[in-house]
Amino acid sequence: MAYVITSLCVRDGACVEVCPVECIVPGPKEEGEWPIFYIDPDTCIDCGACVPECPVDAIFPEEDVPDEFTDDIELNAFYFSDGPGYWDFDLEKERVQTE
Ligand code: SF4
Ligand code: SF4
Repeated sequence: MAYVITSLCVRDGACVEVCPVECIVPGPKEEGEWPIFYIDPDTCIDCGACVPECPVDAIFPEEDVPDEFTDDIELNAFYFSDGPGYWDFDLEKERVQTE
């Protein structure tokens, strides 16, 4: 089990700041198919700390992902297995301010 970021994400980056294992990564902006942030399911320790930080309630435990967002479960995993994966990002440059 892992937590999953759904396509509700507005890319503000708040979740990244609280994750104790640093397993939340923004898709590079220049890659159009990776517009949001993703959780590495192999590293997530299911602590749930990211959930209350999200201003749009975009993060769910895998078993609670709403039906309309179940494709995002595989998208998070695919981002790390076959996509860009971890990279040396500057959070302040990657986040979109919501206020
Ligand atoms: S549940 Fe915990 S370990 Fe998993 S992504 Fe959220 S903050 Fe990180
Ligand atoms: S806190 Fe929510 S909206 Fe912000 S980057 Fe994380 S998942 Fe996306």
